[in-house]
Amino acid sequence: MTGRAATGRSLGLLVCLDCHLTMRDAKAPQMRCARCHARLHERKPHSLALTTTLLVLAAILYVPANLLPVMDTQTIIDDESDTIISGVLVLLHSGSWPIAMLVFVASIVVPLLKILALAVLIYSAWRRLPNGRMQRSQLYRAVEFIGKWSMLDIYAISLLATLVQVQSFASIIVGWGAWAFGAVVVLTLLATHTFDERLLWDAR
Ligand SMILES: [Zn+2]
Repeated sequence: MTGRAATGRSLGLLVCLDCHLTMRDAKAPQMRCARCHARLHERKPHSLALTTTLLVLAAILYVPANLLPVMDTQTIIDDESDTIISGVLVLLHSGSWPIAMLVFVASIVVPLLKILALAVLIYSAWRRLPNGRMQRSQLYRAVEFIGKWSMLDIYAISLLATLVQVQSFASIIVGWGAWAFGAVVVLTLLATHTFDERLLWDAR
């Protein structure tokens, strides 16, 4: 099955993305769904431009998310700023390596993989690359699936903060890195949502 296969669009079929009703000879975008009155689109409008914009913002913010402190720890003795990676190292040195690994994977590896995967999807949809459509479709579903678990990233960061707090009896102030990190999570979620998976199957 390659790009030569018929699509809903080529058969004059249109599916409502809200209630999944399929209609024949519907004309997008003026028409609305006969059942739930949602606006119909053959493809999500401006999908590639929107997804690209969101992804570029996410990729830019990924840098301060990792370089700026996610928390400022204040104790009576001293003040300390921790980035994600230095927090992971603190955990590692204090012997809680499973949690250190969890935080490392959830807050550094997964967001990076999400950004790279979305970049691959955007590029191949834009170039309408004919080979490996099935794999890219699976890649999209994987990103979508991870998105459903993306609160894990936020949990990982708060877990990190809590552990440091417990260990040092300190008061913690959320740093700019944490805001940037939160923005990365939200932006990649939105980018996954604005990307139209059907673009992966459009023929040249
Ligand atoms: Zn509908």
